[in-house]
Amino acid sequence: MTTETAAPPVTSAAALGTAAAETGLIDDPTAHRVLTGDRPTGPLHLGHYFGTLRNRVRLQDQGVEMFVVVADYQVITDRDLADRLAEHTENLVLDYLAAGLDPERSTIFAHSAVPALNQLLLPFLSLVSVAELNRNPTVKDEIAHSRQSAVSGLMFTYPVHQAADILFCKADLVPVGQDQLPHLEVARTVARRFNERYPHADGSAVFPRPQALLSDAPMLLGTDGGKMSKSRGNAVALGATEDETARIIRGARTDADRRIGYDPVDRPEVSSLVLLAALCQDRAPEAVAEEIGDGGAAALKRVATESVNEYLRPLRARRAELAADRGHLRQVLRDGAERASAVADATLREVREVMGAVI
Ligand code: ATP
Ligand code: MG
Repeated sequence: MTTETAAPPVTSAAALGTAAAETGLIDDPTAHRVLTGDRPTGPLHLGHYFGTLRNRVRLQDQGVEMFVVVADYQVITDRDLADRLAEHTENLVLDYLAAGLDPERSTIFAHSAVPALNQLLLPFLSLVSVAELNRNPTVKDEIAHSRQSAVSGLMFTYPVHQAADILFCKADLVPVGQDQLPHLEVARTVARRFNERYPHADGSAVFPRPQALLSDAPMLLGTDGGKMSKSRGNAVALGATEDETARIIRGARTDADRRIGYDPVDRPEVSSLVLLAALCQDRAPEAVAEEIGDGGAAALKRVATESVNEYLRPLRARRAELAADRGHLRQVLRDGAERASAVADATLREVREVMGAVI
């Protein structure tokens, strides 16, 4: 990926969550607003890139208005301390810019710096039941991987906070990985219930019902066969060196079958490496698997490593250049917070008005 080359339009049904979103996007990019984001818990990895980041850049380049949240309060959902928060936050912005997000066209901000966004959490929490919060499968998975001995209240309620992240700017499209689908459902429920309970005087709705935008790689696996995650030590970071990349992929779990194939259900680990190589080469995974044939896991890992390193070379070069100016990264966040606050203030005013708050 290079920012100089125009990104191809997001049009395939597989790349889009719904047919309605697909039609709308092709017809009129300016009719949409996108919100996505990440937790500042570590460097972005290939799962982020192919899961959502690449889609964000494409949408931005098509002219869709984009908000990107650095979900800093969400760091403390599953750990006691927001460890190295400033460093992780700046590095997240660095990864965004290196991948092609343009702070002039995309509003990049940390949600802790936008007070009105956080205030939306209170009315939103009143719209969901404890039973609903309890059965969220992504929250359950995160609790299983949590570093805390006790599960915090924030762990159960952060999907509602995420609804505030999405709805404060009235986003209708959310490019996400598969693990986020239950959270998107929470945001859709919150929007629907809020609109039913608190319509405008003329009957119109305050919030849109946001839709997920899934990519062709909604769940890239890490070297341990689980979801590639920043916090699980199983990821190839976008900013890793070529040698680090080779070492990490060499350690990836595979299976004993020498014949390489693409079978995500029965051979998830091998298929995830095939998919990774295919995404980098912009080819069908079946064709990549066929070419490796009987080469076994060693050949597969060699191909995956070379494909990743070649694909990421321009991004990594840009990243190294941008890394020299930390002040610029912080300025991007300050400008973003200012723009996001103006939008959040307007939404909060509207929310208080339909709820009948005084002043
Ligand atoms: P952490 O381990 O700290 O939770 P993470 O790697 O899960 O980090 P998040 O910040 O929680 O990253 O997720 C940011 C976005 O990236 C979400 O939209 C998520 O769905 C997407 N994403 C994360 N990991 C993957 C993956 N392995 N494949 C596809 N998409 C992913
Ligand atoms: Mg996560």
